[in-house]
Amino acid sequence: MEELYADFVVMGSGPAGQKGAIQASKLGRSVIVIEEDPYLGGASLNSGTIPSKSLREAILELSDFFGRNFYGREEKPREISINDLNFRLNRVLEEERRNLARQFEKNKIRVLHGTAAFVDPFHVVVGGKIKVKGDRFLIATGSKPRNPLHVPFDDQVILDSTRLLRIDHLPKTMIVLGGGIIGSEYASFFAALGTEVTVIDKREHLLPLLDAEIGLHLQKSLAQLHLKVLGRKEPAVIQRVKDHAYVKCTDGTEVKAEMLLYALGRQADVTPLCIHKAGLNVDKAGYIPVNALFQTEVHHIYAAGDVIGGPSLASTSMEQGRLAARHAFGVETHHFPTLYPIGIYTIPEISSCGYTEEKLRELGFRFEVGRAYYYEIARNQIVGNDPGMFKILFHADTLEILGIHIVGRAATEVIHIGQVAMSFNARIDYFIDQVFNYPTYAEGYRIAALNGYNKVKHKR
Ligand SMILES: Cc1cc2nc3c(=O)[nH]c(=O)nc-3n(C[C@H](O)[C@H](O)[C@H](O)COP(=O)(O)OP(=O)(O)OC[C@H]3O[C@@H](n4cnc5c(N)ncnc54)[C@H](O)[C@@H]3O)c2cc1C
Repeated sequence: MEELYADFVVMGSGPAGQKGAIQASKLGRSVIVIEEDPYLGGASLNSGTIPSKSLREAILELSDFFGRNFYGREEKPREISINDLNFRLNRVLEEERRNLARQFEKNKIRVLHGTAAFVDPFHVVVGGKIKVKGDRFLIATGSKPRNPLHVPFDDQVILDSTRLLRIDHLPKTMIVLGGGIIGSEYASFFAALGTEVTVIDKREHLLPLLDAEIGLHLQKSLAQLHLKVLGRKEPAVIQRVKDHAYVKCTDGTEVKAEMLLYALGRQADVTPLCIHKAGLNVDKAGYIPVNALFQTEVHHIYAAGDVIGGPSLASTSMEQGRLAARHAFGVETHHFPTLYPIGIYTIPEISSCGYTEEKLRELGFRFEVGRAYYYEIARNQIVGNDPGMFKILFHADTLEILGIHIVGRAATEVIHIGQVAMSFNARIDYFIDQVFNYPTYAEGYRIAALNGYNKVKHKR
């Protein structure tokens, strides 16, 4: 068996593995990345973040989504074929894969394709053929859809988020099981295409993690896309009946559709890794436990990304991987930030940073709220008059910003202005005292800040 050595052996080439590998290489270490998929990039590039967001963009553009709203056209969305969508998707994937290969090459990162499995704490075997000895390891093997055995998955009718990318036509009707981020995003994409979508979830509303007011705003927008949500229901039977998916819920509700997307969670991808041979175990939820520095119980082995559990985002996984590599090679580092934004690319998109109103109430904070509605923002009138809102929560006495929630066009971009302000402990009046470009969506911060500040100024 061929034997290789590297200072840093990274298992998985998703966001956590990539950034960990590049960081270690920048520190002058030899790096080997092991990837079992023929393509580099992980779920993020090949079946998750990038494909889903490319499809969203293609759908918005090809269906003239914003134009239809602006001109008030009532007609059905323009006919789009799966080939139209795939054309754009494949262009993006090819370009991103090329970028990643270039980055690895530039940083002299060696890639081995095959499944990695530990044989002891300092050695992994790749595809049963190559033995790699490492000084430090990063487990970044990510996650995969949680697919129970009783669900009859195939590539045409009963799908998970990976299989959905291989469909050969667009369905007229669709059931989405699960109103979490992945389920809600895809449900809104297909609804925007004109598919009749029914989401089934055991909770009453989609995305319960959201600030409730923002969630309500989303629901109203989704209702306009004719998306149907069946809350407080649990599927008891999931079957393929001829060319259709059939679901029967525990309360007897029956739904039939051309396709079904099963989006009831993901699980850590650890089985083939044989982590027990390295002296490691998963926790009760199936994730690899790590300390605040991303070290496992076996200190020269680090783990980052989806394999360690939430928040399970490409954005956070990248930073975890980078921090793990920095600590592994003893350079100055910091803890993972407590403040980071969450982006949800439903149509309309949502982004938030910090506390929700419900959490502040639970914690007993004295807070006030500033709101700006998209119809108040000149930029929004110019580009299409879409629904949306900014909501800024701030301390009623100190005025410090405690949470920012935005729903509507550009939310996932403009959130970063608020994130930066919050990371410097900015007060709500910061947004009043600054001059922003005009007309921009960012003006929403000033309008919301003025709205909020006017509620407390008489007390000051
Ligand atoms: C549909 C969907 C949409 C999403 N949208 C967003 C979004 O908009 N924004 C966002 O921030 N996040 C999003 N995410 C989440 C994001 O994709 C993940 O959080 C991210 O990919 C996790 O990165 P990772 O590096 O931990 O693992 P992954 O990206 O899962 O990569 C792990 C890699 O390890 C490889 N691997 C596994 N086991 C082995 C082994 N034994 N040997 C060798 N290789 C192995 C796998 O083949 C894979 O390539 C989305 C996810 C999905 C599914």
